[in-house]
Amino acid sequence: MSYSSWFNEHAKKHKLLVKKLVADGLHKEEIIEYFDFENMKEKELDFCPLYAKNKKCHDMESLNCYLCACPNFRFNDNGIKTIEDKTQYSYCSINSKDGRQGVYGEKIHQDCSKCHIPHTKEYVTKHFDLHWHKIMSKCAL
Ligand code: SF4
Repeated sequence: MSYSSWFNEHAKKHKLLVKKLVADGLHKEEIIEYFDFENMKEKELDFCPLYAKNKKCHDMESLNCYLCACPNFRFNDNGIKTIEDKTQYSYCSINSKDGRQGVYGEKIHQDCSKCHIPHTKEYVTKHFDLHWHKIMSKCAL
């Protein structure tokens, strides 16, 4: 599956879940709490394949899933630019000190595995919007 396919599928899942939570009367703080990994893996098993394995995508105690993937992630499945003889497909728009550009053969992808920024409750609260696509509007190039 290409990243853009995953991105669009995830947007649909996110939209449906938020719609359900709003219909149930949850407000911003409650929705953010609901998206905590521990709650999500119990109640929304289909939202992420890692829930069934009880595995977090990042090694952090309190992980919030609302802003998966990350508003700062930039990608283009067709390639963004050529760097030396390699093609860059993604990068971090804020150049997080905990992210890095990973080189995989001829491809360069942003490696976010050590960055916790979008998964903290504080960051989610600051950038919250009911419309995930709106928060992620700059991601697809
Ligand atoms: S390195 Fe961090 S801030 Fe940058 S795109 Fe990845 S998760 Fe987001």
